Amino acid sequence: MTGPAAYDCALCRAKPAWTRHPSAAHHPLCDACAATYTTWPCPGCGNEQFRPPDEEGQPCPQCEPQLIFAALPEANRAEIDRAVAELGAIHAIKRIRDLTGCGLRQAMGIRGNRYLAVRDGTADQNSRNSSGSIPRNAS
Ligand SMILES: [Zn+2]
Ligand SMILES: [Zn+2]
Repeated sequence: MTGPAAYDCALCRAKPAWTRHPSAAHHPLCDACAATYTTWPCPGCGNEQFRPPDEEGQPCPQCEPQLIFAALPEANRAEIDRAVAELGAIHAIKRIRDLTGCGLRQAMGIRGNRYLAVRDGTADQNSRNSSGSIPRNAS
């Protein structure tokens, strides 16, 4: 370690990041940007978030799709796994958005997670088709 270094603020890139706190190894934002941002641990992985205050308490982008999926009723989770297994990506994502009301980015994350789970056989048995294989995208 070489003591406080002159990092650029991760947000505005115009000012040095905040290094006043001797206990903090490195804060990624300058004073001005830090005042507009807040920090909290992701409820999924516990990693520290640096985001606008109106997003406080939300999970990180990696955990968000998993948490949205885990919070769904079982019937909806099975429905999503079926859509992921049987539909092309675009239709599966649309179905996920219909079932969850979440945004496109979150739906894409859920589809990606569930595609791997269905492919690897870790999805619920009742969400798989009779042959247990994933049909090729017919769209
Ligand atoms: Zn800044
Ligand atoms: Zn997380």
